[in-house]
Amino acid sequence: MLVGWGGNNGSTFTAAVIANRLGLSWPTKKGVQKANWFGKYNITGSLTQASTVRLGDNVHVPFCNLLPMVHPDDIVIDGWDISSRTLAEAMERAQVLEPALQDQLKPHMRNMKPRPSMYFPDYIAANQPSHKFFLFQKSRADNVLVGSKLEQVEKIKMDIEQFKKQSNVDTVIVLWTANTECFSTVMEGVNDTYESIKKAIVQDHSGLSPSTLFAYASIACGCTYINGSPQNTFVPGIIEFAERQGVFIAGDDFKSGQTKIKSVLVDFLVGAGIKPVSIVSYNHLGNNDGKNLSAPKQFRSKEISKSNVVDDMVESNEILFKPGEKPDHVVVIKYVPYVGDSKRALDEYTSEIMMGGTNTIVIHNTCEDSLLATPIILDLVLLAELFSRIKIKRENWSDEEYTGFHSVLSLLSYLCKAPLVPPGTPVVNALAKQRAAIENVMKACLGLPPDNNMTLEHKVP
Ligand code: NAD
Repeated sequence: MLVGWGGNNGSTFTAAVIANRLGLSWPTKKGVQKANWFGKYNITGSLTQASTVRLGDNVHVPFCNLLPMVHPDDIVIDGWDISSRTLAEAMERAQVLEPALQDQLKPHMRNMKPRPSMYFPDYIAANQPSHKFFLFQKSRADNVLVGSKLEQVEKIKMDIEQFKKQSNVDTVIVLWTANTECFSTVMEGVNDTYESIKKAIVQDHSGLSPSTLFAYASIACGCTYINGSPQNTFVPGIIEFAERQGVFIAGDDFKSGQTKIKSVLVDFLVGAGIKPVSIVSYNHLGNNDGKNLSAPKQFRSKEISKSNVVDDMVESNEILFKPGEKPDHVVVIKYVPYVGDSKRALDEYTSEIMMGGTNTIVIHNTCEDSLLATPIILDLVLLAELFSRIKIKRENWSDEEYTGFHSVLSLLSYLCKAPLVPPGTPVVNALAKQRAAIENVMKACLGLPPDNNMTLEHKVP
């Protein structure tokens, strides 16, 4: 169940699942394209569907074949949006997919209508208006719940239960792909503990954001909750609630483009003994996400989420960096409507090299934002479901004693810009390490050792 179902990501994800299930093809300037999870056409970019794992010399198996994993065709999608447009209309509004594909998909998406959602105008940008606030501007927020916070949370819980019954799915996962909210202040007695959140809901307290309340409702229903946006949905009270209920939470913020490259490039530089001293990232984009992020408070959430992504790599090398020393790191995001969903990311990495020399790497990345995010949504959901079926035992435990992963599912860090980790545990941002963690856990389930890449068999005579 997607929160923000009618957005660019929500509608593109839905369209991609249906196009693949139906095996659709469509004409383009370059020839006929076919929907194919594995191939060069559609969902390339998915760890689970389009990458392989090395099992031995020249033996690489598709990631999704390593362990029994849900097939994307078996996913049933539902969700909420403050905009009432059907998914067919939302896909058209998003301007992401080819018209010839949209035409084929529309009959399948016309009856998909987002459920009314929680809307507290203070949390998202004022440029995402409601009738109430902008009488002369076309409203986006025309599908909103009314009533107290308690009533709205109960309604969301009922939606989840109703969807579960009606669709007959085994597992419901709730994923926030709605607008970026401003950061919430962590306040004593409001969101700092589970008990305070419970009380604050009853008191209708304004310090609780929609995303935090969605997390609360989802956890109460025993459903994994994933946050694809940068805001701090997971205030301490929510983490405590998830731990109490033994429910997974994961986030924050899809790691799709610029940050993914950063978490590879800085790992390479620091690992190679080259000292990055300045990292400057500009972005411009013209979709609704860009519009929302053009407001200072919402931009601030993204800035925070993008800012710590090199910390673990920098801290790993005391030869290059004194304790507490960090590269200058600046992130700029601008809204340029004309470029639509085609986000431009310009990055400059300046590094010190030997004898006072300087090495500057400049990258210009033009990427279709929602086409990068969609495979990440798929991977997050499939892996979260898979990891909920893995049980672990410590060496000295009895035969019957098993535990699952910690409620804060940090194994999904590979897919998140600002990984949430269990309190007091280290954050890993380096992409290769994050991937290795997933791969090696999956191998362990098969009784295989982690890949150590020594390949001594080829190096010793
Ligand atoms: P979008 O603006 O197209 O979609 C967001 C949707 O959320 C809209 O349809 C809006 O009506 C809806 N919405 C807003 N508040 C809501 C609420 N309280 N309840 C339900 N629906 C609500 O944005 P998008 O491009 O689909 O991106 C979605 C989120 O994912 C953004 O927060 C963005 O920052 C994050 N994200 C996107 C990418 C990417 O696309 N590459 C990468 C990282 C993070």
